[in-house]
Amino acid sequence: MRKAVNFGAGPAVLPESVLKTAQAEFFDYRGSGMSVVEISHRSRLFEEIIERTERSLRQLMRIPGDYAILFLQGGASSQFAMVPLNLYSDRKTADYVETGTWSQKAIAEAGRYGNVNVVASSEGEGFARIPDINRQRCDADADYFHVTMNNTIFGTRFTAIPDTGPVPLVADVSSCILSEEIELARFGLLYAGAQKNIGPAGLTVVILKKSLIGNCLASTPTMLNYATHEGKNSLFNTPPCFAIYMAGLVFEWVYNQGGVEAMEARNREKAGLLYAFIDDSNLFQGLANVRDRSLTNCTFSLPGENMTRAFLALAETEGLFGLKGHRSVGGLRASLYNAMPIAGVEKLVDAMHRFEKDNS
Ligand SMILES: *Cc1c(COP(=O)(O)O)cnc(C)c1O
Repeated sequence: MRKAVNFGAGPAVLPESVLKTAQAEFFDYRGSGMSVVEISHRSRLFEEIIERTERSLRQLMRIPGDYAILFLQGGASSQFAMVPLNLYSDRKTADYVETGTWSQKAIAEAGRYGNVNVVASSEGEGFARIPDINRQRCDADADYFHVTMNNTIFGTRFTAIPDTGPVPLVADVSSCILSEEIELARFGLLYAGAQKNIGPAGLTVVILKKSLIGNCLASTPTMLNYATHEGKNSLFNTPPCFAIYMAGLVFEWVYNQGGVEAMEARNREKAGLLYAFIDDSNLFQGLANVRDRSLTNCTFSLPGENMTRAFLALAETEGLFGLKGHRSVGGLRASLYNAMPIAGVEKLVDAMHRFEKDNS
């Protein structure tokens, strides 16, 4: 393990072996005499990289042929606009569940192009839980239904996939993609910024049913039309080549670790260790409703600003970084993405244990 254990929410920790491979290949990519960041995106060499990356993701998530995989730029935040621009019909109506900051941003953006129906919200409870969805409030003719599967900032996650009937389910999976197995067939579209659980920033992965492509609003910019990218295998213009290459290495790493199933088992073990300590602690307090707790972003707190600062300072002296909660929530947050080793969580729990002993 390196000296620092990085609990940051994103850009986040990547597997050490992936970083070493990228380092070893950086100067001279596989005998080509060029770096991956120098080769043309139209070269056979890069085509192989993007094809391999797509194949690996398809295999890991068991993505069937009627779903397209797009490698885009613009972050998950651009998807807040691309989803309505591409999925709104003439009626321009969508249902959204409000579960935190990212869903609020998605709601605001969709509202610029059409009608947003917020069918459930936990804002009144500080987004500490996932709200129940009353089917009566949902629009059976909505163009799509949007959820943020894992709420990176508040540390909650949907533990059940909402049943939306024939309405396509769209999910922001930025902070949970590949962290646990999901039933892909239940979703019309998934999107994720890469910098949490996939690779470096700059790449956005969109997985969507091909039947949802090709009906964008007339004024949609070419670059924001899914059809543009699907028709060209994500090579309409220069893609984020290096980030795609790194994502490919991460996908291979996940595969070699035993796939998503193995990742989920390990993530449950990691989150279990931390939550078990928090639940037993008289000092540290969990912030999210127990049923809805995230596997990848654990939010918790200490009594008072001073104690929080003292803990963060202690943690840093022990090489534990990125534990400060999001500025809108305060407190503490430990992100436990796939590349976080169990030993890292053990170090954290050990530090929390000692801090509690010294402060009670
Ligand atoms: C980080 C995050 C975003 C924003 O991603 P960008 O790639 O920075 O636009 C959106 N949604 C969720 C759930 C996130 O965790």
